[in-house]
Amino acid sequence: MIRVDRSSVVVPLSLTKTGASEEKAIVLAYDGYFNANPRPKNFTFTFRAYKKADVKRALGQLFRGKCAYCESRYAGTQPMDVEHWRPKGGVQEPGQQGLAEGYPWLAARWTNLLPSCIDCNRPRVQHDELTNLDETLGKANQFPVVGPRMQRPLPGSTTQPVEDNPLLIDPTVDDPSLHIRFRDDGVAMALTDKGTQSIRIYALNRAELVFERLGVARLVEQRLELIERLAIVIADPQLNQQLKLDLQDLVAHEINALLELTEPHQRTPPWRASSSRRARRCGPPPRPSPSCGPPTWATCSDGSAA
Ligand SMILES: [Zn+2]
Repeated sequence: MIRVDRSSVVVPLSLTKTGASEEKAIVLAYDGYFNANPRPKNFTFTFRAYKKADVKRALGQLFRGKCAYCESRYAGTQPMDVEHWRPKGGVQEPGQQGLAEGYPWLAARWTNLLPSCIDCNRPRVQHDELTNLDETLGKANQFPVVGPRMQRPLPGSTTQPVEDNPLLIDPTVDDPSLHIRFRDDGVAMALTDKGTQSIRIYALNRAELVFERLGVARLVEQRLELIERLAIVIADPQLNQQLKLDLQDLVAHEINALLELTEPHQRTPPWRASSSRRARRCGPPPRPSPSCGPPTWATCSDGSAA
């Protein structure tokens, strides 16, 4: 999990327009339900705004097609869950049966939405690498807080409720590195109570995720080692000039690949990088260089991928 700047993406129109009116309707409907005597046995509200395509696009853009919690790339392999950080339907209080009242009026609030993979968001049996136990993990309706929960606003009120104090990391607000560190074997370790709850509730030590994390760490190590070795070769004053330029180009490529792994949110998405590389290599005016020689131009000119 890494910190992401939510202000880098424009709030989707579906939330500013449809969402705003939906929020008023939600407050009114829930107020009517809780004040009814007797309360209706069945009460449902159809939430629509957060499901709109522009909301999913904006969340995908904000987190670059990755889960906000575990950073796994869901794009292309599984549907994204539009996750309500403060649960809209109800909250699972520890040790209690059923769900307590949730935060329905935040269902279409941009600051309450995150993109999540299925394993982080839904309750599933996972093997936890830290406890070495098979457990049902995943956020679902969990939302632990310290102190009292945020109160539902009253209809027509222009005053926002006082926020509660969550014991979970919001990667658009908190710096996860202050709450979680990673061991060399890929296991996440808590630095704070918020870290402890987040690791457990988001299932950040599930076996497959730990193995993936370890794989990325190994890849970073390998690329660093290759860059260091190439630097030694390039520093040789006897090295052929053309070979030196080729190796410098290779080092630049490796550094870019390394930064993509270690600072993904500072980088151009891979598909856009490919396009821009292609534009640099194939776009007019054609000016061959050590990294863009005649074979490349021959490949580009027939319209095939660069
Ligand atoms: Zn995830």
